[in-house]
Amino acid sequence: LDELDEHKRSLIRRREILGKGYRLFYSDPIEVVRGKGSHVFDEHGVDYLDAYNNVVSVGHCHPHVVEAIARQAATLNTHTRYLHETILDYSEALLAKMPPEIDRITYQCTGSEANDLAIRIARNYTGGRGIIVTNEAYHGNTDLVSSFSPSIGEGQALSLEAGILPTPDTHAVGEDQIADYMVDAFHKEVARMRRHGIKFAGLLVDSIFSSDGIFPGKAGWLKKLADAVHEEGGLYIADEVQPGFCRTGEAFWGFARHGIVPDIVTMGKPMANGIACSATAVKHEILDAFNDRIPYFNTFAGNPVAMAAAKATLEVMDVEDIQGNALRVGNLFKERLRELAQSHPAIADIRGAGLYIGVEFDDPETGEPMSAQVLELIEQMRERLVLTSNCGSYGNIIKIRPPLVFNEADVNRYIEALQGSLEAIGL
Ligand code: PMP
Repeated sequence: LDELDEHKRSLIRRREILGKGYRLFYSDPIEVVRGKGSHVFDEHGVDYLDAYNNVVSVGHCHPHVVEAIARQAATLNTHTRYLHETILDYSEALLAKMPPEIDRITYQCTGSEANDLAIRIARNYTGGRGIIVTNEAYHGNTDLVSSFSPSIGEGQALSLEAGILPTPDTHAVGEDQIADYMVDAFHKEVARMRRHGIKFAGLLVDSIFSSDGIFPGKAGWLKKLADAVHEEGGLYIADEVQPGFCRTGEAFWGFARHGIVPDIVTMGKPMANGIACSATAVKHEILDAFNDRIPYFNTFAGNPVAMAAAKATLEVMDVEDIQGNALRVGNLFKERLRELAQSHPAIADIRGAGLYIGVEFDDPETGEPMSAQVLELIEQMRERLVLTSNCGSYGNIIKIRPPLVFNEADVNRYIEALQGSLEAIGL
C-alpha cells in the first residue's frame, strides 16, 4: 500500500473499510476539499462546476447558513423534549408557504424517514395498505420505503402492497395525453389491488419524476391524478425531496406547480443546505389521528442546529429570490441546450422545470436509448471539470440539477463542456 499514490491508497482503504456499497462516481473519481456557490475544488485548487448537487441549493457553504449553524452549535444542541423557539419560528415560516389546509409539521433527519412516516400515517388514516408509486420511483432506504422504490432494482423485493404506475413519459406518450394516460393506469391499478384484497391507501409521488427520467410535463397536468386519488378514497402524498424548495422555478413546491393540495408533504435534501433535516407536513386531522394511537419521537430530528440551518436556508431563498433565479437560469439553460441540439441529432428531448433539466439521448435512426454513450458523455464532462449525471430506466438521460445559485456564466461553461464532450465521442 505504501508504494501507491495517495489517491489509489484512499480508493483501496475505502473499499476495505466502507465496503462495496459506497459507490463512487467516475472511472477516475474526484476528491474535493472545498465548495463555494456552484463550484467545488480539489486539493490542488482545480475548480469543478457542480451541476449535480441539489442539497446545497443556496450554494455550497453559503455564509448566512454557515454562520447560523456555527452560532447555534456553539450555543446549544439538543433534542425536542424541551421548549425551544427556533423550531416554532421556522415551522411557522415554512407552513406559511403551504396551502392553509396543511397546518402541522413533524421533523425527521432523512427523506427516507419522512416517507416511511408518511406511509404509516396514510395507512392509519385510510385503513388501507396499498401504496401506489411510479415505475422507476425512489423514495428511500428504510425497509418500508425501499419496498416501494422500484428503481433500487431486482435485489430489492417490492412490497406485495405496492401498486405501480408507468413512468409519465411525455416524450413517448405526448404532453397533452399524459394526464389521461396516467389516470387510466391509476384506476386500473387500484382495481387490480382491490381484486387482490388490498385497499388503496395513497399515492406517493415525486412531481418531477426525477428517477423515472425527469418528466415534469406541463404545469397543472398532475391535478387530474390527484383528483383521481381522492375519488378512490386515498391520500395524495407529495414527495418534495427533489422538486421542493424552489427547484422548479415555477413554484416553491412541486405540487403547487400543479395546483394540487396534497394530504401529506414530505421533504428533505435541500431543506437545510446540507445539514441532515427532513420533515412531514400534514393536514391536522390526519396527523392527529396517527398521534392519537402512535407516539413518534426522533432523537436528532428538529434539533436546534438543524432548525437554525433550515431557517437560514429559507431566509436566503426569500432574500436572494432563489426561485426567480431557478426559473430564469433554467429557461436560459434549456434555450442553450435546444440550440446545441440543432447540430446534435442524438439529443432526442430536452425537458425540465426551473433548474431540473433532463436531456434524453436516443439513436436518431433506431430510436434506441443511447445508454452506453451517455455514460461516456458523463466521463467526458468530468474530464472537462463539469459534474453532471444520468437517470431514467435506460440511463440515457443526462440529469442537470445544480445548486439554485447557478448563473449564466455557469450555463455557458456547461454548454461548452457538453459540446466538447459530444464532439469527442462523435455524437
Ligand atoms: N425521495 C426522493 C424523491 C429522493 O430522491 C430521495 C433520495 N434520493 C429520497 C426520497 C430519500 O431521501 P434520503 O436519501 O434523504 O433518505
